[in-house]
Amino acid sequence: MSNQASPDPLPITRGLRGRCPRCGQGKLFQGFLGLRQSCDHCGLDYHFADAGDGPAVFVILIGGAIVVCAALFTEIVYQPPYWVHAALWLPLILIVTLLPLRPLKGVLIALQYHHKAAEGRLEHRSDA
Ligand SMILES: [Zn+2]
Repeated sequence: MSNQASPDPLPITRGLRGRCPRCGQGKLFQGFLGLRQSCDHCGLDYHFADAGDGPAVFVILIGGAIVVCAALFTEIVYQPPYWVHAALWLPLILIVTLLPLRPLKGVLIALQYHHKAAEGRLEHRSDA
């Protein structure tokens, strides 16, 4: 595997920046969450990349915990009217779900490339 010089050697930082998992310089994303066909710098084919539901699961679990804890704390301590809850938590839900989605997808794809993770396949054994 050729490892070209990169400003960030860690796959996690490459993923957080939305860069190619091999060279760290080419762009990974086209649009908000769509992937490019290949790296525009080193030519790595991105067809191996499949983060699946991983980014959404992390966002739901972490973002949900943040919003629910904040809402419960606010209700218990301040007991504001319901419109205050709507004004506070709806924007917070958008922030804690949309902002981390792309970096998380980048990190999972970078780690998938780094660890050579792929679907399991059955192999035919001749001695069995
Ligand atoms: Zn690249």
